[in-house]
Amino acid sequence: MKGEKREIFNSASVGPDKCTFCKIAKGEFPSYTVFEDETYIAFLDINPFSKGHTLVCPKAHGETVWDMKEAEIGGLFLLAARISRAVVEATGAEGFRLLQNNGEAANQIVSHVHVHVIPVMMSHKGKPMDRIRLEGKEMEDTSAAIRKALARD
Ligand code: AMP
Ligand code: ZN
Repeated sequence: MKGEKREIFNSASVGPDKCTFCKIAKGEFPSYTVFEDETYIAFLDINPFSKGHTLVCPKAHGETVWDMKEAEIGGLFLLAARISRAVVEATGAEGFRLLQNNGEAANQIVSHVHVHVIPVMMSHKGKPMDRIRLEGKEMEDTSAAIRKALARD
């Protein structure tokens, strides 16, 4: 591996100036934010697999985990694990998935590193997950419940 630079292809690649998640991180684009500090931001997925589906991102633009420093990768997954507790508490889920896609071949749509926290119920067991539609009020209430659970954590 040393000296060899492999690239991960993504035809959806964009720089920070055109990146939706950079815009969300800078407060230039709306989101249902559940957590924010200097380094990371977490917000509800706008087209979720389940109620409470949350995306956890570093604020700094990078496309895949290969673009991140090791400590930042560690911090990102630690935060995702911490947020999963609040997501499960807020939604009454019976399990959760942590998922992170790198490259087009992995179905990465947004070319800014993010970890999915997807709460699941026993009824999801063994089934492929479909996207669901939630109204704005439900997204607002869910993000508020996750923020509240995080504050108790
Ligand atoms: P991935 O396939 O890992 O790149 O997933 C990207 C996720 O970002 C998808 O689940 C989208 O529904 C979600 N997404 C795209 N645009 C937004 C947005 N503006 N706010 C919240 N989530 C978004
Ligand atoms: Zn970005």
